[in-house]
Amino acid sequence: MNYSVNEIAKLVEVDYTSPSVQIISHVSVDSRSVQNTSNSVFFALVTNKRNGHEFIQDLIDRGVNTFVISEDIKVVGDNLSIIRVSNTLEALQRLAANHRKKFNIPVIGITGSYGKTIVKEWLYQLLSPDYTICRSPKSFNSQLGVPLSVLLLEPNHTLGIFEAGVSESGEMKKLQPIIQPNIGVLTKMGEAHESGFDSFNQKLEEKKSLFIGCETIIEIPENKLDYSFPFSDTTSIENCSLCIMMMEALGYDKAIIQERIKSLSSLALRLEMKNGKENSVIINDGYNISYSSLALSISYLNQLATSFPKTLIISQIPETSLDDERVIQHIRSSDFDRVLVVGDQVLKGISTDTDIHHYSTTEELLNELSQFDFRNHYVLIKGARKFRLERVAHVLEQKNHRTQLEVNLNQLSRNLKIYKEKIKPTTKLMVMVKAFSYGSGSAEIPRLLEIEGVDYLGVAYADEGIALRDAGITLPMMVMNPEPGTFSDLIKYKLEPEIYSLHELDEFVKELIVADIKEYPIHIKLETGMNRLGFLSEELPKLIQYLKSQPEVYIKTVFSHLSSADDLNEKEYTLNQLAKFQEYSSILTSAFNYSIDKHVLNTAGIENYGDYQYDMVRLGIGLYGINVGDTDSEIKPISKLKSVIIQTKKLNKGDSIGYGRNTRADKEMTIAMIPIGYSDGLRRSLGNRNFSVYLKQQKCNIVGNVCMDICMIDISSLDANVGDEIEIFGDNNSVEDVAEAMGTIPYEVLTSISQRVKRVFFKD
Ligand SMILES: *Cc1c(COP(=O)(O)O)cnc(C)c1O
Repeated sequence: MNYSVNEIAKLVEVDYTSPSVQIISHVSVDSRSVQNTSNSVFFALVTNKRNGHEFIQDLIDRGVNTFVISEDIKVVGDNLSIIRVSNTLEALQRLAANHRKKFNIPVIGITGSYGKTIVKEWLYQLLSPDYTICRSPKSFNSQLGVPLSVLLLEPNHTLGIFEAGVSESGEMKKLQPIIQPNIGVLTKMGEAHESGFDSFNQKLEEKKSLFIGCETIIEIPENKLDYSFPFSDTTSIENCSLCIMMMEALGYDKAIIQERIKSLSSLALRLEMKNGKENSVIINDGYNISYSSLALSISYLNQLATSFPKTLIISQIPETSLDDERVIQHIRSSDFDRVLVVGDQVLKGISTDTDIHHYSTTEELLNELSQFDFRNHYVLIKGARKFRLERVAHVLEQKNHRTQLEVNLNQLSRNLKIYKEKIKPTTKLMVMVKAFSYGSGSAEIPRLLEIEGVDYLGVAYADEGIALRDAGITLPMMVMNPEPGTFSDLIKYKLEPEIYSLHELDEFVKELIVADIKEYPIHIKLETGMNRLGFLSEELPKLIQYLKSQPEVYIKTVFSHLSSADDLNEKEYTLNQLAKFQEYSSILTSAFNYSIDKHVLNTAGIENYGDYQYDMVRLGIGLYGINVGDTDSEIKPISKLKSVIIQTKKLNKGDSIGYGRNTRADKEMTIAMIPIGYSDGLRRSLGNRNFSVYLKQQKCNIVGNVCMDICMIDISSLDANVGDEIEIFGDNNSVEDVAEAMGTIPYEVLTSISQRVKRVFFKD
């Protein structure tokens, strides 16, 4: 549509004169989706859920200046055109009805209880070779959807196909003048009583009132039509019969109709979407390809996947070619993030943002498939039969049949940013990556931290540091528990030891003398109240004396560790620790004429004792998303522990489950087997209904004793199958929930997920 603001006012039937000469080509009712701001008119709808008037100022700030409103508003902006009506939805309906009057083309109106959308899509497919069709997007058939659909009518359209749905008496009266069909289609009517209607007849009458003024009305025939149908189910045959009768009414020959309905099967397949790996959606139409079926699949995809990444997997097209301008235009219309092409034809002229790869055979593509990230993608697979692209679909649909820990690296970066904002720009950041980054993986997280520019890494043992050096990590690294046997390796791999006793220091210095190394960095740990490793204050004079006589080492940093930074009831104790640290560390630093960094805060310390950042802080658990600070913190977990159902079983009342027969079925029940056991980190004490995992957002108790590699869950109240995903922790259970059930802390939950659980990394 293209209307001036004054024409819009006229079409919504109110008196309003605007000085603006703006041309309006878009109608919007959802502030989030407004795009061409200065050419849009925003209708401020008022529904139970939302009041559109609240978004007007925001839209003005984004450049929208034409509004249809029904409530008093206070907004500021220049050159605004504000059209006041008594009801914004009715105004939108009047706009659409008046817009419709400007078109003198055949319009098909579809109503009924079932199948409206499929009949509309089929008619679109069958008739698009001969007409330029405007049709309702998705299943836009409501009081709001219908006007929005009809407003899509453009001068070049030669046919309109719109669906109308009603849920109570009186609604069709509003939709009929908007669609004004000249041909009506009544799809299958539900027999069941519907709450908005007194009787079946009333419902039927209401629906049929769409057809006032129709020359032709098409209903499901009583007898099967004399065509060969590409379906065997009654519903598809009925829907297809409506399409056949429509084509007959439009004057098509039987032979053409018969030919065209053959291709409908592919649409039925297309409407069948499958969930694939990594939360992807696979739309597999790898059985046939033609220009028109491609166009249809792509427009279907565009409706579905407005805000998701999209991949097209396409073969060469037999009857035309991939450089056909129309084909290219359709592919372009979908803004694919990635196109994988199989066959000899080359695809060109697509947006430069699209990642295009060519393969001469499907086998070649299959070999390379694993390099692509399909997370959250909508994947449309479209190919000629001989390429058998369904094999690609099959691979993408295969889910992981194992337990895995999913780690979101972007969430880690977001958490890191939050902590960086909490510390002063001059404070250095050491990140603790001991115990495989708190169970999250091996070198993946340190590698990211190196890119993110943290200053130091902290590990527990020499081995951990060596593994990271082998993986190419070059950041300075402190090793907290370096056993004497590993000192030569420390030196070889440039790992810096924590020194907590004179004995340890002496051993390390001997190793440096042998290696003939001077001024090796070490980190002195002070005892301030944790009563674990570290120098006591009375040992300091001896330590200082020793260090002054040994040029082999120099003190890089001096530090201590708080025992209860997370517990504000222990604030006095913590402040006392901090005071001791201040005193003891100063004794040490003042004894040397070079600068020595000081650090004492862990995550909870950063949260609760931010004044004591000194030169560096040591971030741990918070980075991994366990919030130990304010409840409104933006810190979010980076990992989810997931598994899958590998078998289900029905049990009779009295049957026992698993080792020791500790759970008995008190009634008929269905259980599912999950490949995670105590050796994976799912504590045995969580069995026998002591904990529940989540399946399809619903709780399922763990029943029976947890076994070494497997546990059983109760799925009696759910409809679940092999392959369905199980969450141990993630969106529903938190790590804290698991910790509580195990009688421990999140640290132990995360670090006891055993190494055989595969870690899968992704960025959202
Ligand atoms: C593990 C560790 C940290 C990090 O502690 P969080 O509570 O995880 O932040 C800090 N300092 C030392 C010495 C540690 O061992």
